Amino acid sequence: MSDYDYDLFVIGGGSGGVRAARQSAAAGARVGLAESSRMGGTCVIRGCVPKKIMVFASTYRESLAEAQQYGWSVDAGDFDWSVFAPKMRAELDRLEAVYRKLLLNSDITIHDARAVLKDANTVELSTGKTVTAKTILIATGGHPVRPPLPNAELGMVSDDIFLMEELPKSILIIGGGYIACEFAFILKGMGVEVTQYYRGEQILRGFDGEARGLIAESMHEAGIELHVGTDIAAMEKDGAGIRVSATTGSERTFDKVLFATGRKPNTDGLGLEAAGVKAGVKGEVIVDEYSATSAPSIYAIGDVTDRVQLTPVAIREGMAFAQTVFRDNPTPVDHELIPSAVFTQPELGTVGLSEEDARAQEPIEVYATSFRPMRTQFIGKTDKVLMKLIVSKATRKVLGCHIVAPEAGEMIQLAGIAVKMGATKEDFDRTVAVHPTMSEEIVTMREPTRTG
Ligand code: FAD
Repeated sequence: MSDYDYDLFVIGGGSGGVRAARQSAAAGARVGLAESSRMGGTCVIRGCVPKKIMVFASTYRESLAEAQQYGWSVDAGDFDWSVFAPKMRAELDRLEAVYRKLLLNSDITIHDARAVLKDANTVELSTGKTVTAKTILIATGGHPVRPPLPNAELGMVSDDIFLMEELPKSILIIGGGYIACEFAFILKGMGVEVTQYYRGEQILRGFDGEARGLIAESMHEAGIELHVGTDIAAMEKDGAGIRVSATTGSERTFDKVLFATGRKPNTDGLGLEAAGVKAGVKGEVIVDEYSATSAPSIYAIGDVTDRVQLTPVAIREGMAFAQTVFRDNPTPVDHELIPSAVFTQPELGTVGLSEEDARAQEPIEVYATSFRPMRTQFIGKTDKVLMKLIVSKATRKVLGCHIVAPEAGEMIQLAGIAVKMGATKEDFDRTVAVHPTMSEEIVTMREPTRTG
């Protein structure tokens, strides 16, 4: 028995913290966990889960319009937020309870409190209690930030979307990242007039250029008013709405403004200095490949480290931490070739290098095809999908795979296995196609579209 209250104290009951706590307890550690808000963290309460449920809700108008074209006599009518929102919130309550149960079943002590580091082995809780632990894990995640603009508090951030009492008639979304683009499609699908300002040249910076272009086209087709090279310059209350001046000189009033302008790690007032934990310029906890911080007894995982801000990555980091610290099996976190999806409509699924990044690295061949999918071509729609492979000329390995299509998130999970295994273009080619599907094109592209 050690002199500490716990072998491990986890600060934060989100994706990373919960997984790390459970895995460590399974290895025999005595674990305590503090959560200052709701168990489940960003992903379950104000991120992936409610967002995806909203994606589902937002697609029915289009699906039913398509169904009519296929011969069904149906009419979507109007979307009723007051019916949908309580159901969504009840589902989050259910999931939160599941998370709590999982922790309790693992004999983890839950503290519903904010935790602050006092030194490298001591944590003070907002309940007034002080606890000690041989190892402390910081898994406090991050929060959305508003730009430094007068009256910025008039605008919402992503957390607020899930708490809205009613849907606005019109909304201005500021930002061009995945959260901004996903909400643009979601809200448009629910019947809101959506305008989006993004100060850069093209939305979804960092993703493959051709894929970004196709998503932007889909936005225009969906009736989302996307303005690139445009930012918000000023905002003020205008009756029940918000008057917004843009950097381009235009002035318009919207019911709501949503800032999707970035996130910041939750480290303010966390006591990092007192515990000897070094942070970077954004406030992110600096860690090595084992998630160890500058204080030998303290580790950090997930969004608070600002490595890759995705739930499965936080979970992987939590599992690697437990292996390293409690299973005597030092396990570095593998951040290479992480597949991911953007839940726009259509979705973007991606793994590996974009064409632009690959081209800067080595000579490549690009195999790409953009076409009208059978399902919607049948009813005369003009929407297109994209299947794209980036191939190394030297090794023939597939360096990147990018798919823009309905359910691309589902497709890329599987393509990701092949890319992670180091599959070559020839491995893709000798795989027999599944017909008739959209993704069969991924194994039937014979001639490069371009090289370089
Ligand atoms: P979190 O899940 O944020 O958990 C941290 C927890 O720590 C929180 O519950 C917080 O209340 C608590 N906490 C903070 N400070 C303290 C303290 N001092 N004491 C006690 N508790 C504290 N990822 C995907 O993979 N796919 C998606 O589709 C996706 N969609 C997203 C959509 C949105 C709108 C957002 C905002 C995020 C989305 N993400 C998505 C990202 C994903 O949610 C995060 O990467 C993930 O939740 C990070 O997990 P974490 O454990 O690091 O932190």
